[in-house]
Amino acid sequence: MKALVYSAANSVSIQQKPDPEILSPSDAIVKLTKTTICGTDLHILKGDVATCQPGRILGHEGIGVVSSTGPSVSRFSPGDRVLISCISSCAACEYCRRGMYSHCTTGGWILGNSIDGTQAQYARIPHADSSLYKIPAGVDDAAMVMLSDIFPTGLECGVQNGRVQPGSTVAVVGAGPVGLAALMTAQMYSPSKIIVLDIDDKRLETARELGATATVNNKADDAVARVKQLTDGKGCDAVIEAVGVPATFALCQELLAPGGVLANVGVHGSKADLYLDRLWDKNICESGRVLGRCENLLIVSSHHNKTGRHSIDAYAAENGGVGEAQSGAAGYTSLQV
Ligand SMILES: [Zn+2]
Ligand SMILES: [Zn+2]
Repeated sequence: MKALVYSAANSVSIQQKPDPEILSPSDAIVKLTKTTICGTDLHILKGDVATCQPGRILGHEGIGVVSSTGPSVSRFSPGDRVLISCISSCAACEYCRRGMYSHCTTGGWILGNSIDGTQAQYARIPHADSSLYKIPAGVDDAAMVMLSDIFPTGLECGVQNGRVQPGSTVAVVGAGPVGLAALMTAQMYSPSKIIVLDIDDKRLETARELGATATVNNKADDAVARVKQLTDGKGCDAVIEAVGVPATFALCQELLAPGGVLANVGVHGSKADLYLDRLWDKNICESGRVLGRCENLLIVSSHHNKTGRHSIDAYAAENGGVGEAQSGAAGYTSLQV
């Protein structure tokens, strides 16, 4: 089969690789029909992810059709159209039973990291019964592939960890794919304001189309003053960091209202400061997490094919445009296999 292989720092290549085989009774082999490139793959390329070594087939997101299953797989059969979770989980270990699937002792984020991933014609999915999801009829492929990682990360690590509630004021720092997913899924909780910050006006325009109540270009404007002005001088109840660099992590801390929650979503490749000298008495909370499950959004999408007021299809179309603008390469977020 053909596969995209991490060959060395800052280098990937399409290579011919052997088709994957069932190695454990709970494995399934999936023939990919659509996969994506994630910001995390870019971190691997930069050499930020020590667990991913050269020779690895990249990719942890995708949808496809089950081609074979191990003898203990009971929920899936060859021919089933499935969504692959970027997190493999056994559903039985201590962490899975506490709902912390990303810390599964024999799973977690392993696809395209410590085992071969989904940017290939076929992939071996461990713990298939608890790591695959049947795709509801009538849901678009381009929308569905966003549920492998991008939307659940925006929802779980951003919106739910940020404790967004009806009436909350929300700031999303970074309007890349996951930041936009946080913007869209936050709308399911009816916050009063969602302010999106980025340094790219095209991304901010997309954010307004997808429901941001205000946008701030933090390169052009005094972002802290502008957000305070938009929130009666208080700052935001939930501040979602969706970039992963020290400067944006610091900016998020300045946007917090008393009692606010800073929900970190960005993948940090270097240390970042937490200004406790300014924050210790503000009742704030900082949270970090890797996503666990796709199923909440799968249920939403199967009924409505949308989150909040905007359809995932619209996001997929918009996101392709943003990707092209940012990278200069077509197909940045979505690859047809
Ligand atoms: Zn991803
Ligand atoms: Zn487990």
